[in-house]
Amino acid sequence: MRHDVSPELLDKLDAGKVAKLLDIPEYRITGALERRILQYIYSPRELFRFDKPVSSIEGGTAIFVEPFDIVRGFPKISRVLMLYPGIVKHFSSCEKVVVEEKMNGYNTRIAFIGDTLAALTRGGFVCPYTTEKANKLVGREFFHNHPGLMLCGEMVGPDSPYVPKSIYDIESLEFFVFDIREKVSGKPVPVMERRALVEEYGLNSVRLFGEYSVDEAHLEVTKIIKGFGSALNEGVVIKDPQMALPPVKYTSSLSNSADLRYAFEFYNDYGRDFFFPRVCREAFQSVEWDEDEESQRKRCQRLGESILQPMIKTINRKKEGERITETVQIRVRNLRTVDEFKEHLRLLGVDAIFEEPEPVGDEYLVKIRKIFKSTNDKTDSILRGELWS
Ligand code: ATP
Ligand code: MG
Repeated sequence: MRHDVSPELLDKLDAGKVAKLLDIPEYRITGALERRILQYIYSPRELFRFDKPVSSIEGGTAIFVEPFDIVRGFPKISRVLMLYPGIVKHFSSCEKVVVEEKMNGYNTRIAFIGDTLAALTRGGFVCPYTTEKANKLVGREFFHNHPGLMLCGEMVGPDSPYVPKSIYDIESLEFFVFDIREKVSGKPVPVMERRALVEEYGLNSVRLFGEYSVDEAHLEVTKIIKGFGSALNEGVVIKDPQMALPPVKYTSSLSNSADLRYAFEFYNDYGRDFFFPRVCREAFQSVEWDEDEESQRKRCQRLGESILQPMIKTINRKKEGERITETVQIRVRNLRTVDEFKEHLRLLGVDAIFEEPEPVGDEYLVKIRKIFKSTNDKTDSILRGELWS
């Protein structure tokens, strides 16, 4: 659907200049504005964000208004389901591939806009909380020397409002770089050059497992994934050392089950989207690893339990009159960040209740209860006798 675009908005965006910098026709920019794919956001900074990809421009690309700047979206990473044929086919033009850990947190791009840091989440929103953390964890030195680059990495740890995880022995939240790219073109720096740069500035990189020849990488990846054992490390990302080809990802069955467990606790909000692709991954992994009956049985049991147990728990909680919520926490220096973060969640359409900030040292811990409306309403209505239609 096309909408009229107000002159005030057009005033904030020089479509011609943006089109030139992004190397796409100008009508693609104005068309995206009319179709509300390119959306104006006013808080905490004024910007336009691509809600979805438009020609070669990734969803999550942000165009800042004042000062004018562009931060390209982080590209989607395809998944390999069968390691051997998948790696050999995708990386046929490479001799070697690099394998890095896929950490489980949330994707963050950090860039210098004017003379301040902005931390963007995958969708192209500046997150006020992540920006406060980025100032502390990353600082400005890298950007003073490389203003045209952005750091792409995973924010990981328990004080995460989006993907809280305690599996890495992190106290609050840490940033692990997995890419350095030109912020306007999105062009990546080769893997080893990137890792050296990250080290030079005293920042953290995701773990490097090694560089392997293309036709043996599947064996190494299998070893790595099996080596995770009962730990919940998510998986690996396999990369062309030059970063000329896009990377691919591969994940462990245990982290797959953990995702399903989470999704089915809030089954009517997430269950459907999570379910099918994860079942497919399990089936292909079982075949590629040539599992015996006992291993298959364990896999089936794990998969089944990770779907049904959380859902039964949810229904029981609702039956007892509880509200289905997820509690996350943020740890801030500045109480203004809490207000900005409230506004940010409102913009994202997340229903949340903020508890009173609790002083901890020179910071404040704030618990946030996210309410899963769809799961609450659906469970309630079925318990009251409504039919599934
Ligand atoms: P996608 O849009 O790429 O499919 P998704 O939301 O489905 O993303 P994931 O399945 O988590 O996300 O896989 C891709 C994400 O993995 C990246 O966006 C990035 O945030 C994260 N990631 C963690 N570790 C790495 C790494 N070493 N290299 C690249 N990405 C990594
Ligand atoms: Mg992820």
